[in-house]
Amino acid sequence: MKIGQHHTRFAGKPTVRGDAFIMPDVPNFTERHFGHFADHMGHLCRGQTLLYQYLGTSVIPCHEVLHLVQHLHGQLHDPDPRSYAMEHDASRLNYVLLWHVLERRRNKPGWTKWVIMLEGLNRTLWAQKKLHSTSIGLSACEAYRRWADSFGIISPCDTFAEAGDEQALQLESLVKSIVAGEALTVGTLPPSREHLMALLRTAFDPGRCGDVYSPENSSLTSSLLPEDLRLNSLAASELLRPATDPALAVALGAMLREVCNEL
Ligand SMILES: [Zn+2]
Repeated sequence: MKIGQHHTRFAGKPTVRGDAFIMPDVPNFTERHFGHFADHMGHLCRGQTLLYQYLGTSVIPCHEVLHLVQHLHGQLHDPDPRSYAMEHDASRLNYVLLWHVLERRRNKPGWTKWVIMLEGLNRTLWAQKKLHSTSIGLSACEAYRRWADSFGIISPCDTFAEAGDEQALQLESLVKSIVAGEALTVGTLPPSREHLMALLRTAFDPGRCGDVYSPENSSLTSSLLPEDLRLNSLAASELLRPATDPALAVALGAMLREVCNEL
């Protein structure tokens, strides 16, 4: 989408110089751009839009690179009209891969990577809430669970199609966000290199070939994915679980008492 001459969205687009990846022109955003995100995304301030965009500029390339690797793998065919198996793999790895990219970049200040990851989880929670509130809420959630828990092998395409074309598109975007966030609720946190490697091996094993939804590919995927990286309804509830570590509250209480005594 363009406002004036500046893009607000990501897009893959063939150009005269070859394929291009168009990114939002964030440094040149004006009041109209921030107004657009306030109206369409409910952003409450400019900072929220900037963080939203910062996460996008970091995580969307991770997603697209995974699609490129799928293309190079070249053995898998996804006959689903919306390529749900391919979208699953690229999305499931999103934040796990992003974490390892951020670790290498050594951003300043050091807490940058935590803020970006937190924004990722916020986006997942927002998408979870949205999924429940769609016109086919319950069946959408069930179709999502089957898709995520089968490592993308059981496509939600037919269920989502019942909501109509426009909402099916929105549902696709929501479930991609959710599966990316849920992938951070299993295995080690932050995700270890072994975690990343296990997901990469499952997604890109040379033995996966032909129709990605075939029983052979399904059982191969199931045997490749380590038990501790499997998703299920517990992964979803992990995202909503309140923090149980009381250390922060204790430290905050002590600091407030100290400050009060000094006043
Ligand atoms: Zn994709």
